[in-house]
Amino acid sequence: MTEKLLGSIEAGGTKFVCAVGTEALEIKKRVSFPTTTPEETMALVIDFFKQYELKAIGIGSFGPIDIHPESPTYGHITSTPKLAWQDYDFVGEMKKHFPLPIAWTTDVNAAAYGEYVAGSAKGLSSCVYYTIGTGVGAGAIQKGKFIEGFSHPEMGHMIVRRHPEDQFEGWCPFHGDCLEGIAAGPAIEKRTGTKGQELSSDDPIWEIEAYYIAQAAYNTTLMLAPDVIIFGGGVMKQRHMMEKVHDEFEKLVNGYVKTPPLKDYIVTPKLEDDPGTIGCLALAKEAYEAQ
Ligand code: ADP
Ligand code: ZN
Repeated sequence: MTEKLLGSIEAGGTKFVCAVGTEALEIKKRVSFPTTTPEETMALVIDFFKQYELKAIGIGSFGPIDIHPESPTYGHITSTPKLAWQDYDFVGEMKKHFPLPIAWTTDVNAAAYGEYVAGSAKGLSSCVYYTIGTGVGAGAIQKGKFIEGFSHPEMGHMIVRRHPEDQFEGWCPFHGDCLEGIAAGPAIEKRTGTKGQELSSDDPIWEIEAYYIAQAAYNTTLMLAPDVIIFGGGVMKQRHMMEKVHDEFEKLVNGYVKTPPLKDYIVTPKLEDDPGTIGCLALAKEAYEAQ
């Protein structure tokens, strides 16, 4: 008999990455679909998973999302600026086609979980994971549980101090110059007229970008003092920024708290491009075991 597989959906604002994998968190097949409308995108997602015998599915979604199991809108995407997806019953739609245990959390929580079980935070008791991509988001884990209360954290929208040479007004539709508004990939493109991946590594923008990322690390350190802070997402492919982030972080902390050595404390994902998929598979496995 073939082994039943676990399903993973990383639902992002630009693309949905769907995968199937094993209990050992080995990815067997992975595909990606553009995020258009729920009708179009979900039809592709459902067709993909129908090819397999699954035992559980883990979903990490863009949001905000409703994560409270007792809420009437549990499993919905809620107030997203992506209008077609507002109030979309994601888990409900999946359950219709796949009556299986379904784990449901934010995209960044899922990625944090991947790094927690198999990446930079493996063996530690806590971590915070940021993605700096089309948006900025973060998830935090303490002893295997996501830190959340009335809802999930939205650390990507924290307020940061402006870099003295940065005149960009910010593009967050809610807050203007919050962290996401000035440090996500589109903020880089709007300032320079060029996508981050096409800019040279000595462009002055990276100094500004590192200044903001260091503040996210600083605020995170003072609020949560996690064992490790991981920065992933497209913009962090600029690995040279890490040195600037460490320098700026050190200036900000100014000796006030003694963190672990920065090379081990503020890092990029050990799972490279896989933390979200591995995290969703691990969450699916837990949902299966918990039923
Ligand atoms: P998403 O956030 O949609 O899941 P990504 O994490 O890849 O996807 O983020 C996309 C953003 O990151 C875009 O704004 C893109 O310009 C930027 N980006 C992608 N690759 C790089 C790179 N190598 N250097 C700098 N910015 C990048
Ligand atoms: Zn904002």
